[in-house]
Amino acid sequence: MYDTIIIGSGPAGLSAAVYAKRAELDFILIEKEYGGTGQIAESERVDNYLGLYGENGFDLGERFRSHAEALGTEFYEGEVSEISAENSGYKVTLADGTAFETKTIVYAAGASHRRLDIKGEAEFSGKGVSYCAVCDGAFCKGKTAAVIGGGDTALGDALYLSKAAEKVYLIHRRDTFRANRLLQKQVSEVSNIEIILNAVPLEITGEKRVEALRISRNGQEEALPVHSVFAAVGTIPNSGALKGIAELDANGYIIAGEDCVTSAKGIFAAGDVRTKALRQVITAAADGANSISSVQKYLTENRR
Ligand code: NAP
Repeated sequence: MYDTIIIGSGPAGLSAAVYAKRAELDFILIEKEYGGTGQIAESERVDNYLGLYGENGFDLGERFRSHAEALGTEFYEGEVSEISAENSGYKVTLADGTAFETKTIVYAAGASHRRLDIKGEAEFSGKGVSYCAVCDGAFCKGKTAAVIGGGDTALGDALYLSKAAEKVYLIHRRDTFRANRLLQKQVSEVSNIEIILNAVPLEITGEKRVEALRISRNGQEEALPVHSVFAAVGTIPNSGALKGIAELDANGYIIAGEDCVTSAKGIFAAGDVRTKALRQVITAAADGANSISSVQKYLTENRR
């Protein structure tokens, strides 16, 4: 039986691995896809991680991973399908049937891209519909792209795409952005970004790939000819495996404070998957540290 199993290899899980190794815990890290580093890999540039100004998101994720690897972290590729209480600990079962027993769990499964839920989205996914500007932006060279959303991701994506695309529509459903002010200022200064406010996407159309985006702007319908549509409408927590085990909030985030303690004894939630005010790489990494501190405390208090 392991001391702990870390689920997820984003900044929270990798940071937890570093702390777990230093605490000499017996553990494995389970990740959905081998070599993953979480959503950070999709950021073109990270300017707010202390000491690493201007680092490319992919490279930053690789640095985190190398750090956990250098300390000897054992990674296991697999998708967690079930977590159940067993032998005063937990059994973690993977989709392929493999199962592990552990005294505690650090659940750092992160969040996934929220879908637009409009007609044409699924049909043209990978054919002009994307959830990652850094991954697919190169296809927009000299073309017109639409970005949907009003948060940090949407504005960051619009800026990124504006460098290659001929024109970028930034479409937001309200009249104010929730993105930080610096991003708003930067976007307002780029001549090939056209901001469309009070507008919602209705349908993505085309023959073999995306050709147009139908929107409703102030109640009026119109079709924008676009080559690509980038959905940046937030994330949904990957908390499914803990449903019915730990308490979740109305949006599906695992309820836990800075100590990462959840309502389930011995399960600790770290990173974007837990309730928190600020979802950033630096707060995810901090969760990794705090979660292992809580694991150690729990193991000491529940020594058998
Ligand atoms: P977000 O902050 O949740 O923003 C999602 C945006 O999508 C909101 O503007 C929302 O509109 C809009 N939206 C949601 N559902 C929609 C729908 N069905 N149709 C149209 N629009 C829809 O998500 P995010 O931008 O991905 O950011 C997630 C977290 O990561 C945030 O905490 C953010 O600060 C952080 N982040 C930080 C950085 C950075 O620091 N460099 C970069 C990226 C992300 P409303 O505004 O009307 O709700």
